[in-house]
Amino acid sequence: MIDLHVHSTASDGTCTPSELVRLAKEQNLKALSICDHDTVGGVEEELRAGEAEKLTVIPGVEISCGDWVDIHLLGYFVDHNSPDLLRILDFLSRSRDGRMYKILENLEKYGIHVTPEETLRYVGEDGVTGRPHIARAMVEKGYVPDIPTAFRKYIGLHGCCYAEREKLSITQAIQTIHKAGGIAVLAHGGLLRLSDEDLNRLLDQMQRDGLDGLECYHSSHTLKMQKQMRMQAQKRGLLVTGGSDFHGASKPQVQLHSGLENWEDEESCLEKFLEAGK
Ligand code: AMP
Ligand code: FE
Ligand code: FE
Ligand code: ZN
Repeated sequence: MIDLHVHSTASDGTCTPSELVRLAKEQNLKALSICDHDTVGGVEEELRAGEAEKLTVIPGVEISCGDWVDIHLLGYFVDHNSPDLLRILDFLSRSRDGRMYKILENLEKYGIHVTPEETLRYVGEDGVTGRPHIARAMVEKGYVPDIPTAFRKYIGLHGCCYAEREKLSITQAIQTIHKAGGIAVLAHGGLLRLSDEDLNRLLDQMQRDGLDGLECYHSSHTLKMQKQMRMQAQKRGLLVTGGSDFHGASKPQVQLHSGLENWEDEESCLEKFLEAGK
């Protein structure tokens, strides 16, 4: 068993990188990759813990990007000390802070009083901010019963208090990952819910930009989505990856390896993945 997509306290997960590595080891996972949103802040600790626990760990990052569609792009094997990568991630992290203030202002108009301090309480030291941190503050103050409700009614894409932020284009995001020595994988592509025509258009475009793989297995993918992504990977000669998108307590229904149960050739896919990262 492996899990190539989990979040730590460096972004919106609730376990530290060391806790994630320990948990993975306890559950007999053979490989783990922490892919935090727009940050590699947890990678150093992940690598150290991996060495201590003798677990294969892969440095990762999940970059939000997009032009005509919102994409999450996974970057694996990136050099987490690359100055260019760090500069770009710093820009994205600041755009996240800006959006937090905008969302809090919007919430204010709906009579929801959450301060930046109340939100930042949930952000780890040097961690990047995300909407789940705002959602947790809203739950804590009793404005909503749970995080999904906060997203659905207020801060999700179709919520009344949603705010946009600056993002990289897909081309820029793939280039950023490649320049940092990594490989680029489209995260949870099934969740884009694109028609076959639009999915082909997107993947054609991404492959022109050098896309390396597709996350076919994910905790929110249906069997149909798994199949759709596997077919695309096969047809296009792309790597096949899988990850639960474990976030700890902020997404309690998702455990390590959730959604990867019927990944039959997990081992051979891991081999090819590790080979591509060399
Ligand atoms: P952000 O990084 O600020 O754009 O927030 C996106 C993150 O919020 C995702 O990675 C999920 O962890 C979480 N999220 C998105 N939608 C929902 C939802 N409907 N319910 C709970 N968590 C969500
Ligand atoms: Fe998240
Ligand atoms: Fe994602
Ligand atoms: Zn994720």
